[in-house]
Amino acid sequence: MKMEELIKKAAKDLVHTKNAVALTGAGISVESGIPPFRGKGGMWEKIDPMKYAHIDAFLKDPAKVWNVLVKDMKEIVEQADPNDGHNGLAKLEELGILKTIITQNIDGLHQAAGNTDVIEFHGTFAWQKCMDCGNRCETSKVDISRIPPLCDCGGIYRPECIFFGEAIPVDHLIRSQDIASKCDIMLVIGTSAVVQPASSMPMITKQAGKKVIEINPERTPLTDSVSDYLIMGKAGHVMNRIIEEIEGLLVL
Ligand code: NAD
Ligand code: ZN
Repeated sequence: MKMEELIKKAAKDLVHTKNAVALTGAGISVESGIPPFRGKGGMWEKIDPMKYAHIDAFLKDPAKVWNVLVKDMKEIVEQADPNDGHNGLAKLEELGILKTIITQNIDGLHQAAGNTDVIEFHGTFAWQKCMDCGNRCETSKVDISRIPPLCDCGGIYRPECIFFGEAIPVDHLIRSQDIASKCDIMLVIGTSAVVQPASSMPMITKQAGKKVIEINPERTPLTDSVSDYLIMGKAGHVMNRIIEEIEGLLVL
């Protein structure tokens, strides 16, 4: 089926439910200027993830990880605004269709767009935490005139998102699994679906006999196996068109 036909199909599927959820990944924030990890233009083209995004790398040399990864991320995230993809999901919540977003992103853009129930599966970049005393400081306010930035107690600040090699907060995992098993439709947007356990959420929805709709310019391991269909396009354009179609159906 062509993209336009699939967009109309998704609008028809969504307009009848009050219990949709979205699973989002780095791809939904690409149009806000935040590069994804994998694929074309991804950060992994420039840096080796195991050298910089693994907890062991941070513990071994926090200044190096701050300099190469965290400082850049801070600058990029602080300049980013929600795009049509995020705004489309906020509109779906406003229309009473979408209940919850499970996001792998740490950029806070879903909340900035207006969604009120966002599970930050991998934590948040909005805050830093002292590794010694646990004191928290907003990332935008942390003093980076020296790297790594230090808390008043002398401890090192680290972002409140998880590095590779760290466990998912267990309450986030349990709630996400519960939501995935009870929703009517899961929209999977901008995720390469290779990072576990986030990528197992669509499988839970599928096994519960419910619908999984993917939005991504590329195929993923979910395509044709777990997803009912893939709308092959960018999140911003596709979400804009889905909202237009839903609004058209609602006035009929
Ligand atoms: P990923 O980098 O592995 O994959 C990105 C996916 O987005 C790809 O499948 C790609 O085809 C798709 N994509 C690219 N442009 C798109 C667009 N305009 N619209 C829709 N889809 C598009 O990302 P991931 O699956 O989220 O996984 C990796 C990890 O990266 C996560 O743990 C996440 O925390 C972290 N991450 C987060 C951010 C962020 O917060 N914005 C940025 C980079 C990485
Ligand atoms: Zn401290």
